[in-house]
Amino acid sequence: VVGVRDIRIVRTAERRQRRLIAVASGKGGVGKSTVAANLAVGLARLGMKAGLIDADIHGPSVPTLLGTKERAQAVDKKLIPMEAHGIRALSVGMMIDTDRAIAWRGPMVAGALNQLLADAEWGDTDPIVLDMPPGTGDIQLTVVQKHRPVGAVIVSTPQDLALIDARRGIDLFRQTNVPIIGLIENMSGYACPSCGEVSHPFGSGGVEETCAQLGVPFLGRVPLDIAIRTASDAGTPPAAGEGPQADAFMAIARQVSA
Ligand code: ADP
Repeated sequence: VVGVRDIRIVRTAERRQRRLIAVASGKGGVGKSTVAANLAVGLARLGMKAGLIDADIHGPSVPTLLGTKERAQAVDKKLIPMEAHGIRALSVGMMIDTDRAIAWRGPMVAGALNQLLADAEWGDTDPIVLDMPPGTGDIQLTVVQKHRPVGAVIVSTPQDLALIDARRGIDLFRQTNVPIIGLIENMSGYACPSCGEVSHPFGSGGVEETCAQLGVPFLGRVPLDIAIRTASDAGTPPAAGEGPQADAFMAIARQVSA
């Protein structure tokens, strides 16, 4: 007979086992959310019960990226994650109107994060990819101190300005003893759809160089590709499909899961 106390022990054990992978960037617009969503979908394709949490409370984009328009339901005050493209996901954007500005102070944001992370029915979901807000502010600190991710994946574009910010992001994780799983170079090289010529609007190779300098793994690159943008806007993560876009994200998912 399993008593209440035993259930509590099982729950604690289950919570401890659940791994959080933080996907972060030094600044916005570098494709952090796109990478986070496709990493979660990629991990699921590799056979894991992957989840995705939108910790970007002020700019939630997970509902758009997964094409989930409905509201998340709650049972006994516990949110039920949405299921889409083989993963479970939760976002503040699934609780309120995404057109509304979220003018919350720190404690409210921390409370919302806690609801998404600890007070939701995640069941056997593992690992959970966390789409972090850009930069090194209040939410990042709450996440690293309170929720202790097993590691962080940093997304950057190759240009110097983005890389300077990415270094700052890496520093925050290092200071708080969260291991850096590695860096991803997004929007790396653009192949012209009509002539095929590859150009480098943000430079090239900068992220790999930074990895070598900082002694952290380089996880791969994702090209600047219109197909990635259109699929993302349509709510169909490229990692769930086929072709070179899916291959790029699957290669990264394999590196992260290794
Ligand atoms: P962030 O989370 O860093 O703010 P997003 O993931 O929201 O960035 O991406 C910003 C925009 O760039 C989105 O419109 C997204 O579809 C697009 N995007 C991201 N990565 C790529 C890519 N590799 N190729 C083309 N468009 C991309």
